[in-house]
Amino acid sequence: MRRWGETARRIAATTRTSEKTRLLAEALARLAPDELAPAATWFTGRPFPESDQRSTGLGWATIAEVATRLAGVPPAAIGAAYDRSSDLGTAVGEVLAGRPEPPDPAASPSIRDVADAFAAIEAASGTAAKGAILESLLARCDAATATAIAKILAGELRIGLREGLLEAAIARAFDRPLADVQWAGMLTGDVGEVAVLARDDRLAGARLRLFHPLRFMLASPAEDAAAIIARLGPVAWVEDKYDGIRAQLHRQGDDVRIWSRDLNEIGGQFPEVVAAAAGLAWDGILDGELLAIRDGTVLPFLALQKRLGRKAPPDRLLAEVPVAFVAFDALALGSRASEVEPLLRRPLAERRARLEALELPLAAPGRLALSHVESVDSIDGLEEAFARARARRNEGLMVKDPASSYSPGRRGYGWLKMKKALATLDCVVVGVEVGHGKRHGVLSDYTFAVRDEATGGLATIGKAYTGLTDAEIAEMTAWFEAHTIRRLGRYRVVEPSVVVEVAFDVIQRSGRHASGFALRFPRIVRLRTDKSAADVDTLATVATLWRELQAGAEHLVTMTVTRSGLAPVGKAQE
Ligand code: AMP
Repeated sequence: MRRWGETARRIAATTRTSEKTRLLAEALARLAPDELAPAATWFTGRPFPESDQRSTGLGWATIAEVATRLAGVPPAAIGAAYDRSSDLGTAVGEVLAGRPEPPDPAASPSIRDVADAFAAIEAASGTAAKGAILESLLARCDAATATAIAKILAGELRIGLREGLLEAAIARAFDRPLADVQWAGMLTGDVGEVAVLARDDRLAGARLRLFHPLRFMLASPAEDAAAIIARLGPVAWVEDKYDGIRAQLHRQGDDVRIWSRDLNEIGGQFPEVVAAAAGLAWDGILDGELLAIRDGTVLPFLALQKRLGRKAPPDRLLAEVPVAFVAFDALALGSRASEVEPLLRRPLAERRARLEALELPLAAPGRLALSHVESVDSIDGLEEAFARARARRNEGLMVKDPASSYSPGRRGYGWLKMKKALATLDCVVVGVEVGHGKRHGVLSDYTFAVRDEATGGLATIGKAYTGLTDAEIAEMTAWFEAHTIRRLGRYRVVEPSVVVEVAFDVIQRSGRHASGFALRFPRIVRLRTDKSAADVDTLATVATLWRELQAGAEHLVTMTVTRSGLAPVGKAQE
């Protein structure tokens, strides 16, 4: 394990991708057969493979507590170390480096020992039992190895390794085509297994495994109908851009699970959808959007929001805000688990035909639906479709190339999104914090406010990581350092004079901020050096925008689920 940690450090120390790949390929090639799978998996920064449902259940607090106990230092010591690096693994190493009696190097654990300890931690119940296993593992490690282990457990390796690079290293280590490694990785969701298959020259034998989320295909932005037709023409498909939650539904037998766009499992929040999908006659993976729909009409996002984060929602809430899954793609289908066939490389037109053949709206009325598709073949046709979608108060359109394959995790040109940006708000920065990850040394998290004209004071409305360039962040960090009024732990109250333009998706009523409003998906678009704190937007403007958005959301209610899909009421009767 010491060697694994050393490799990780050497990979972190170089910024050159080719060098990272070379180091990793060499390390993978020299691992013993039973070490390859876990060691490769850990390079993704997680203790178990992505497709593995297990997690160690160890929180950061337990890891920190174990480290301070082992080192015989007060609990606050790790907080101070963490403040210096913003990295739990580094903080653990720093604390353990001060142990009065360093462990015997001969006792240093092997990769197998660590893998066994991770499995034992997962299997143990209760924080105390889990912590005790970790403690006996870390007791045998030098500080650097403990750092590596803590980083894996915290899920934050931070050595600048993307999954693509790991796949490239596997291809290189065992001299296999990269495309074969990538395809096997996507099907299995298990780099450890892929490394073993590559080593044994069995990549072609990789089978699709359900119940690990595939990355979502994303759309590239496009404003201009002419450019879209030029790119996707002669015929493009358009779908309304629904304002719900992107979701991937897996089913096999009566086991149904749903993942969100950030690959978290969210099925528990939507029991009615899970129950409806459980009774059907196919196995596979569908891509779609979760929407709140009552009596066949789509409710505003604000209604759906009441359901978010509510595991096992009470019956009252299920009745108030019923949710449906509107499918727009089929990523894999089959009639029995053994026959589930990946469809990602098939054209959208074929995937859609397979999806429609499932007759979801009939099989699970009101719970599973199909997106409404139209095809357009001219600039005018596309503009009209966009205007109709906007008139229905949708965000815009998704324009899709019927010949395109499904590219997981890519923002390609197979799908284009056509939408009009909402108004932005000019806000003043009132507080800052150091960021995480590659932004850990800089003040990159901004809390911002608008002006409350009633009191003349400022009212906070949101917090966001900056979308500024590294140079701007460095410059602003120096400025904020010099203009800190007060430090409250990691948070600094700063002189309110820097104005930023903030984009967002929706304004919501919320008690989280002093303004009484919050922004959904706030993004800092740019610094407004041309503005001062006196020029920022007012609470009255925010309230007006909020009212307009509410009115818009109500128009969304004019959609209904029909047999052929989710369509605007008027359109369906045309
Ligand atoms: P954006 O979040 O602006 O990048 O837009 C992409 C998102 O639009 C996806 O993640 C989906 O949640 C959402 N979306 C809404 N309707 C559709 C649709 N018909 N096809 C694909 N994505 C859609």
